[in-house]
Amino acid sequence: MKDTLYIPGKETPNMPDYDSLCDKFKWENEFKNLERLPGGGLNIAHEAVDRHANSHLANTVALRWIRKDRSLIDFTYSDLKIQTSQFANVLEKLAIKKNDSVFSLVGRIPYLYVAALGTLKTGAVFCPMFSVFGPEPAFQRLSKGKAKVLITTTKLYQKKIKQLMPRLPLLRHILLTDAKQHIDEKVLSLSMLMDEAPDEYLISNTQPEDPALLHFTSGTTGMPKGALHVHQAVLTHYVTGKYVLDLQPGDIFWCTADPGWVTGTSYGIIAPLVNGVTNIVDEEEFDAERWYSILEEHRVNVWYTAPTAIRRLMRLDFKPLEKYDLSNLRLIHSVGEPLHAEEVIWGKKTFGMPICDNWWQTETGGIMISNYSSMEVRPGSMGKPLPGIEAAIGNIVEDKVQLLTKPMEQGHLLLKKGWPSMFRAYLDEEERYKKCFKGEWYVTGDLAKKDEDGYFWFVGRADDIIKTSGHMVGPFEVESTLMEHPAVSEAAIIGKPDPLIGELVKAFVVLKPGHERSEKTKLDIKGFSRKKLGPAVAPKEITFTDSLPKTKSGKILRRLLKARELGLPEGDKSTLE
Ligand code: AMP
Repeated sequence: MKDTLYIPGKETPNMPDYDSLCDKFKWENEFKNLERLPGGGLNIAHEAVDRHANSHLANTVALRWIRKDRSLIDFTYSDLKIQTSQFANVLEKLAIKKNDSVFSLVGRIPYLYVAALGTLKTGAVFCPMFSVFGPEPAFQRLSKGKAKVLITTTKLYQKKIKQLMPRLPLLRHILLTDAKQHIDEKVLSLSMLMDEAPDEYLISNTQPEDPALLHFTSGTTGMPKGALHVHQAVLTHYVTGKYVLDLQPGDIFWCTADPGWVTGTSYGIIAPLVNGVTNIVDEEEFDAERWYSILEEHRVNVWYTAPTAIRRLMRLDFKPLEKYDLSNLRLIHSVGEPLHAEEVIWGKKTFGMPICDNWWQTETGGIMISNYSSMEVRPGSMGKPLPGIEAAIGNIVEDKVQLLTKPMEQGHLLLKKGWPSMFRAYLDEEERYKKCFKGEWYVTGDLAKKDEDGYFWFVGRADDIIKTSGHMVGPFEVESTLMEHPAVSEAAIIGKPDPLIGELVKAFVVLKPGHERSEKTKLDIKGFSRKKLGPAVAPKEITFTDSLPKTKSGKILRRLLKARELGLPEGDKSTLE
């Protein structure tokens, strides 16, 4: 399918021609479009909020919040400047210093956005967590990230956090978004603190390499890793907002991702604001009719969503254009999992435009490979590298990269290191961080191919990490929790392909002697893990087994379990015990 989205005479995209922009692209030139701080520093919140609040955009709606009941609250850039300054003053009053970490565990409510940007103003580091996390994943992140402050609701505090407090001695304050009064010295009412806080704040003179954001991502061999990003990342957010999402003055943009996932922070908060457009935030979860009516009612121009949601819409066999006026929609992008050719083509049939797939990950901080509005969209391909980004395919031989240059050869997807939003560390895990780099290349952990025209095609993960409804799930984390159940002796987790959610989390469990292989035991283990891990992470399927296949060194061979489950060839078994 040869298809470009550029319709002459309608809007000219910010990148009318991919090749010519690649030829002349320089990060330093784009950097000049940011304002920087008066003292010469760089701060994400200044670029996203204050510089617009001090300009002709002061009264433009920065954030439109849609409540569950569909009522609205608009925050102009000027409102957002005031509220984020108040939040920064709240943190200062609580003696939060540069590089301290501030966490959130809330749904998509305005305080989340205010807290994220307000924290950045102070030079502290912000870490958003999914509100659906159970106590264990929350504990892992709060303790590893040395959280000093947590923003949450009374209900989530009571249900998940209170029980963890004795294990979190560094956590000094809990700020409750819905409490009218302070509870005690530690657990405070955020609205009371905000009411007392001055609305002027002098942004900390952060430097481009100062830490700003922390995002946890799952690994195969340990607990989640904290990928640390710096203020310089804002340059990638700006550039990708401009050239990939094609954000233009006056645009209404909607990213459906939750900020608990890196997409919901980089593109649900920063990129649209840095580009000075209106950012839609919907408090509610997926609902097809609601989503279509939001696109219509709010005249969304650019929509950024995920394959799981697209597949849910596809299943409905419903033609939205017969019921909704979506004539303002100019561009649809998708990220997070493979977007299959049929889904791209469905977009073309349903909305009159193909859905543009793009690829990136927590560690890259922003979009790295994409289909662009001015380029031929190849259904099933992730597209081409962002101008300024060098991507390649290679093998790792004796710890060195050997580039593969023939078209469609399969290998590791590699990125030339040094782009602005590259993660700068895995928190307190220097070795793990170093291992991701081979010479000048960052090894992404994904396998891919590149065709003769330079389009990249996703093949799969090079490790055992599971992608379920767009969430990364590390098997180790789930296995460790399952093994806390009194009946479980050993457990192994795999991702089982699922047509809707990509992969579902499946557990193989070896029971301790004396425990019965019954439905009741299964239900009990499922309930236990849902309570501890939350529904997004807990296994949906459990199979009892006598033993788990392991390597001679004792590592679980999840790959083998998966091959057996799917009836595929078992591959190399030389390391099997
Ligand atoms: P996360 O760090 O949670 O954003 O997950 C990143 C991982 O999601 C990548 O390393 C890929 O395995 C997968 N992923 C993201 N975008 C795509 C895409 N467009 N196609 C295929 N897989 C993707």
